[in-house]
Amino acid sequence: MSFCELHVHLYGCLTAEKLFEIGRNNPSPRWSIFTDLYEKVHGKHFDVLNFFDKYGDIQKFKELYFFNRRAPFIEFQSKFNLIIAFSVFDKNEISSVACDTLLEHFRQGIEHVEYRLMYSPRETKANYLEKTLAACEGLQKGEEKSGGKISGRMVVSLPRAGNYQENYHWLKEFMEQHNVIKKYLVGIDFCYIEEGFPPDEKRDFFQEVLKDNQAESSTTFSILYHVGESFADKTPFSAVRWILESAEYGAHRLGHCIALGVQPQNFFGKSIMETVSERTKQLRYELDHYESIREFGGYFSRNYLVSELDKLKHANPETQIEIKMDQQTINYLNTFQEFGMSHIQKFPSVIESCPTSNLYIGMIDDLPKHPLKRFVKNGLKVCVASDDPGIFDTTLQNEYELCKAIGLSENEIDRIKRNSFVYKSEYLSGRK
Ligand SMILES: [Zn+2]
Repeated sequence: MSFCELHVHLYGCLTAEKLFEIGRNNPSPRWSIFTDLYEKVHGKHFDVLNFFDKYGDIQKFKELYFFNRRAPFIEFQSKFNLIIAFSVFDKNEISSVACDTLLEHFRQGIEHVEYRLMYSPRETKANYLEKTLAACEGLQKGEEKSGGKISGRMVVSLPRAGNYQENYHWLKEFMEQHNVIKKYLVGIDFCYIEEGFPPDEKRDFFQEVLKDNQAESSTTFSILYHVGESFADKTPFSAVRWILESAEYGAHRLGHCIALGVQPQNFFGKSIMETVSERTKQLRYELDHYESIREFGGYFSRNYLVSELDKLKHANPETQIEIKMDQQTINYLNTFQEFGMSHIQKFPSVIESCPTSNLYIGMIDDLPKHPLKRFVKNGLKVCVASDDPGIFDTTLQNEYELCKAIGLSENEIDRIKRNSFVYKSEYLSGRK
């Protein structure tokens, strides 16, 4: 059976060979981007003299580049910085990376891929166009070289802060002016650090995109949203709510959603801080959905929630408060997640689950505890994806292999594979 890949970042797909080539052809790699963090992580100097001779043995280069074990996020960033240091990120490189990556995915038996690409938040409109065109043309070229046996599509990752509205309007305009962009560009995404960017800030924007999709079905955008992957700024309860809100506001696919299915016991004994404003939103949400939540198990009493809310009435919204994750709270988290996994099915959103990524940089320490298992048992709409397969040294096929270790049956895995084709951006956004 062939594969459909719906969650990869284009530059995170770079093979060691391709990255090495990019670096060697770059007359002035921005070494310090890589070496500064490398030295911080490893506590030793990194000498870049004669780098391409020293690492000419690709095996040696792979050791430097691959992030293929569980380690703190900073180590992932330090390896990813090698990509940033080596890339020129001009139109020729983007086009060549898009074309070669698509052909690599074709060789791996993939039939359809959506690639995400992020620009600097300070990029001008002219550069935005040039790079978007280059990526789309690169994909077109790759498709031709494969004899039309693979299709590649493009998604632009917009900055969570920054001018995402303006960037979206540019993209919409480019689509109307350039047929190649109209064909290949299919969605927008929000990725990178999610802490500090609640989905309710994006509600009006999502509404606008959905309205535009309805108004003009030949230039629709899917809304892809990384959420519930990393939530150091709030309780797992609030993190689950962020996922549910993203679905309610109309995101078509949600990246990771670890909080929704992670083992509650992971949090046992921890003290978690969140702001008064976050806590207030959470308590209100729990009261608004109280009856439904209670259907899934024991929970805080309604009186307790009301009194907690009352205590915060005059507090500064930015003040941090501490929530203790005792055994009872852990049990209630399980109830809230079970409610969440039922509630999310009222919306069309599909969860993109990335086993290796969650194992190496997420909070999953063991594959049988991966949230995908709970998602599937509860009948959620999911697809499996590889996120940054180049740097993680994985393939989509390998991610599906890992599904067995997670505990999914052959039938369940086959169903996910098949459904992935139905969850393409063009379908979900109603492109005609
Ligand atoms: Zn991602």
